Parts: sequence; C-alpha cells; structure tokens
Amino acid sequence: MRFAITSKGDSKSNTLMHKMKSYLLDFNLIYDEEQPDIVISVGGDGTLLYAFHRYSSRLDKTAFVGVHTGHLGFYADWVPEEIEKLVIAIAKTPFQVVEYPLLEVIVRYQNGGRETRYLALNESTVKAVNGTFVMDVEIRGQHFERFRGDGLCLSTPSGSTAYNKALGGAILHPSLPAIQLAEMASINNKVFRTVGSPLVLPGHHACLLKPVNEPDFKITIDHLSLLHKDVKSIQFRVADEKIRFARFRPFPFWKRVHDSFVAD
Ligand code: NAP
Repeated sequence: MRFAITSKGDSKSNTLMHKMKSYLLDFNLIYDEEQPDIVISVGGDGTLLYAFHRYSSRLDKTAFVGVHTGHLGFYADWVPEEIEKLVIAIAKTPFQVVEYPLLEVIVRYQNGGRETRYLALNESTVKAVNGTFVMDVEIRGQHFERFRGDGLCLSTPSGSTAYNKALGGAILHPSLPAIQLAEMASINNKVFRTVGSPLVLPGHHACLLKPVNEPDFKITIDHLSLLHKDVKSIQFRVADEKIRFARFRPFPFWKRVHDSFVAD
C-alpha cells in the first residue's frame, strides 16, 4: 500500500509525521506523495482541508485519516499517543471506508460561456466585493428570493459544524446527501424580504445564484478565497464525488458534536 502524510507544519505535527513515516516504512508500506492509497493528515481539521484539496483529483483512489495535535477534530480523531496503534491498523488490516458528501460549485462567466468547477469539503461562501451583496436565488429552476445582505454560505453536512454553525445553520449528519444554504446578515424590512431560515437541499435540487447588478464576487472554497469577475451565475449542488475516510474504529458523529460543543 502507498501512503502520504501531510502536516500542519508546527514542530509537534512534523515530529509526529516523521515518526509515522518511519514506522510505516518499517512495515514495508511505500511512501508516495503523488499517488497514495491513504493520506494521513497530522494537525487539525484545517490540515485535512488542505490534504483534501491536494488530492481532490483522485478521491476515488485515496482514503483519508486524521491525527489531531490540537483540540478534538471533526475530520481528525486520532491522538498522538495512539499513533503506534494507528500505524499497525493501517499496515495490517484492510480498512473500512466511510464516505461523506461534497459540494460542487460551478461558476459561469458572462464572456463566452466559460466556467470553473470546484469541490468543497466544508463550504463555499459568496460575498460582494463592493457594496451590498444582491443575488437572485433559484432553487431547482424556480425563482426563490432576491437576497440582499452580506453574503450566502453553502455547506456540506460535514462542513455544517464549521462556518455554517456560526451563521445559525443546523448541524447535519454526514450520511445525508444534502447541502445547506445559510444567510449572512440578510436585509429584512418592509421593502426587502428573505426567508430568514437556513435551507437544506436534497441531492437532486441545485441552487443557482444570479447577480442582480454588480458581477464581481469574493468566493471561498473551504480555506481558499478568490475574486471572480464578470460572473453570470454560481451553481451549487451535491457533488457526484465523495470524500472517503479510512475507519479503523467507530467515530460517532454526534459524540464528536457533543464533545466539541457541549462538554468534553
Ligand atoms: P482557520 O481560520 O485557521 O480555522 C477555522 C476553524 O474551523 C479551526 O478551528 C478549524 O479546526 C475549524 N474547522 C474546520 N473545519 C471544521 C469542521 N468541519 N467542523 C468544525 N470545525 C472545523 O481556517 P482554516 O483552518 O483554513 O479552515 C477554513 C475553514 O474555516 C472554512 O472552511 C470555514 O469553515 C472556517 N471558517 C469559519 C468561520 C466562522 O466560524 N465564523 C469564518 C471563516 C472560516 P482546526 O483548528 O482543527 O483546524
């Protein structure tokens, strides 16, 4: 089996990365940064986001596992004290795979039908570059509302505990093939009206944003932020691809939610 290890870059994570690499090489596994069967991310949830984007072109061939060197993570559940156990599990056992849904984002531009496609593990946010953000929101081909405010956030179920939660969105179990649309400070008064609640869309419902005036936007895809000019529309839906996590023991989602947000 071929493996790769990504580190957050701090000394604790780097030391752990080198230790795991040498243990796995002792088990005759092959270190291959280009075409790994398994990627071990050492750091936090942010580190796993980076690893996901680095290997997003081979999601069907690569599984991920996370070791956290800080607080408990949603994508990283192994602690440094357990790495020997994890190494043996990776080397000896055929591992189980758990799949989580991803968000597909397609940005289309006004000039000549050009488009760019992205995959997000947590979420994509859209904000105006200048002035108030104004977008027509379509759901499944039907006009839903004209949104005015700071911006909109479309998240995956596993990303629902990240930015989406800070916006008052619901926490979705990652076994649900859905995406969630959450508002960022909508303008609601006698003239302007939005639904005001987060919406959860199933796999066969796409959400389309169409600029009303200003065509330039700041669009984030997880930790990546880009300026997009002359945008015609932005389409969001559940992606056909999924992220695959290598599971060596149960990792109950609601326990992670409880331990992270309620009590440790
Ligand atoms: P960062 O600002 O360094 O970290 C953001 C925090 O979000 C970190 O504590 C990270 O955990 C945590 N996180 C990441 N994914 C999560 C998940 N699925 N569930 C719960 N917590 C999660 O930025 P970054 O490391 O580059 O990560 C980018 C992410 O930051 C974005 O995808 C977005 O979700 C989040 N963000 C949140 C807000 C907000 O809550 N207001 C605003 C902007 C961005 P670790 O410490 O374990 O890495």
